[in-house]
Amino acid sequence: MTLRITHLGTGSRGNSTLLETSEVKVLVDLGFSGAQLQKRLAMLNITPEEIDCALISHHHGDHGGGANIAQRKWGMNILANERTAQELDLDPKLTSYFGPLDVIRIGDQLSILTVPVPHSGSENVAFVASYGGERAAIITDLGSWTDELIKHVYGCEHISIEANYDDQKLNSGPYPYSLKERIRGRGGHLSNNQTGQFLAQVSTKNTRNIILTHLSEKNNSPHLAESTVLYYISELFEGDIFISSQDGPEMTHYIGENDIENLTPTKLNRVEID
Ligand SMILES: [Zn+2]
Ligand SMILES: [Zn+2]
Repeated sequence: MTLRITHLGTGSRGNSTLLETSEVKVLVDLGFSGAQLQKRLAMLNITPEEIDCALISHHHGDHGGGANIAQRKWGMNILANERTAQELDLDPKLTSYFGPLDVIRIGDQLSILTVPVPHSGSENVAFVASYGGERAAIITDLGSWTDELIKHVYGCEHISIEANYDDQKLNSGPYPYSLKERIRGRGGHLSNNQTGQFLAQVSTKNTRNIILTHLSEKNNSPHLAESTVLYYISELFEGDIFISSQDGPEMTHYIGENDIENLTPTKLNRVEID
C-alpha cells in the first residue's frame, strides 16, 4: 500500500500535486492551463480523464485557475469549500463541497483532512492525507500558522510546505512597499525563516521527506531556502529535503507500507466527506 506524491510544479505561475494509489489519482490544486496540465500529466503517462478528482486549496489563480477548464474539458470532479467554488465559478454538478476540518475519503483507503490556514482574502486550507498508516501534509500559501495546523502536521512522514521568500531578498528587492508588506503579513506567505520555525515544531524522527515549494523567483533561491530551513531543523530531522520548482513534474515521494504493487488505473468509486 503506497501513496505516491509527485509535484507537477509549484510557484506563482501554477501549482498542482498528484497523489496516486493503486486505486485513485487525485490532484491537489489545479493552477495550470488545460494544455499545461495535459502536458505535465503526459510526462507521467497519465491523461486528465484518468484523474478521479482535484482538491482546490483556495481560489487564487495559481491554485484554482485551471479547475473550471478541467470541468468543462474533461468533466473533472472538483472538491473545494464553498467560497473557493464560488470565486472560481465551478459547475455545481461536478463539485463537492468540504468544510474546515472535514475528512474526505477517496476510494477505500485514502483520506484527506482539510485544515484552514490564514491567507489574504481567501479561505485557504492545508491538506493532510492518510494512507497505509502514514501521513503526508501539503501546505501552501499562508502568512502564519495555527495550533490546529501544528497538531495535525506533527510527525507526518512527508511534508510539502511553501518557503516563499528570503527576508533580506524581499526587503531589498524590486517589489513596491505595499506588496512587500502584504507578502510579509499574517495573510501573506511564509518566509524561509518562518518555514524553518514551523518545521522545527512538527518534524519528528518519523519525518522522512520535506519538500520546499512555491519559492518566489524574485525573492528567494533554492540554496537560501534549503540552508535557512536546515538551520532550524538539522538537530531533529534525519530525512531528506528537496526543492520543488515551477517546471515539474519532479521526483516522486512515497508514504504508506512499502510493498511493491502494480499501479493499475481504476475509476473512482466514491468520494465521501465527513
Ligand atoms: Zn494564494
Ligand atoms: Zn500561490
